[in-house]
Amino acid sequence: MKTRFIFTVFTLLATAMFGFSCSEEMTGTDELLNEMKIGELAAGCPVSGTITGEEAAAILFMYDEEKMARDLYAEFYKMYKIPVFKNISKSENVHMQAVGSLVKAFGLKYNGTDKPGEFVNPEIARLYSQLVEMGKESLTGALKAGALVEETDILDLQDELQSAGNASVKRVFTNILAGSENHLRAFVNQLKFRKTIYEPVLIKDLDYYKAILSNTTGTRK
Ligand code: ZN
Ligand code: ZN
Repeated sequence: MKTRFIFTVFTLLATAMFGFSCSEEMTGTDELLNEMKIGELAAGCPVSGTITGEEAAAILFMYDEEKMARDLYAEFYKMYKIPVFKNISKSENVHMQAVGSLVKAFGLKYNGTDKPGEFVNPEIARLYSQLVEMGKESLTGALKAGALVEETDILDLQDELQSAGNASVKRVFTNILAGSENHLRAFVNQLKFRKTIYEPVLIKDLDYYKAILSNTTGTRK
C-alpha cells in the first residue's frame, strides 16, 4: 500500500448539482446539506464487482479515517458550538455510511466500534488525540485541525483512487473526495472570517489548492 498522508501529519504536528445518478461522475456540491443528501443516496447505490486485498485495506482504512473526522468535529462542536463543526460532522457520518456500504457489500469486517474517539488503526487514534489537543487551545486551532484533516483525507483518497480498479470503490471515493474539498474550503473560509489565512500544510499542488478554494476542481461539475 502506498504511503498515506496521515503519517506525514504526525511529523508536522510535532455545483450546483440537481440530478443524481450512481455513475462515477456523481459528485458532492457546495451545499453541505445537499452533499449529505447525495451521500445518503450514494450509500444506497448498488455495489458490484470484486476487490483486491489492497482495495479491502483501503476501504477499512478510509472508514476509520472518516470516523475520526466525524468524532473530532463533534468534539469541537461541544467546545465551540459553531455550526460548521456540527454540519461537517454530520457530513462525515454520511461519508462513513458510504464507505460502510462498501464494507458490508464486500463482506469486510471493521474491527472497531461506533464509540466516539475509538479507532482500529493506532496511528489514526494517535492523530485524533493530537488534533483534539490542538483544538482545545483555541477556536482557530480547532479550525486549523479541521483543515489539516481534510487535507489528509483529500491526499489519501487521491492516492487510493490512483490504485483502485473497482468502479463502486472509485465512485464512493470520488464522491467523498468532492465532499472533503467542500469541507476544506469551509474551514479555510471560517479561518479567513477570523482574520487567519490558512496555508496548506500537506497539499503541494498549489493550483489544485486554489481550485479547491474557488470551487473549480475537476472532481466536481
Ligand atoms: Zn469525509
Ligand atoms: Zn471532511
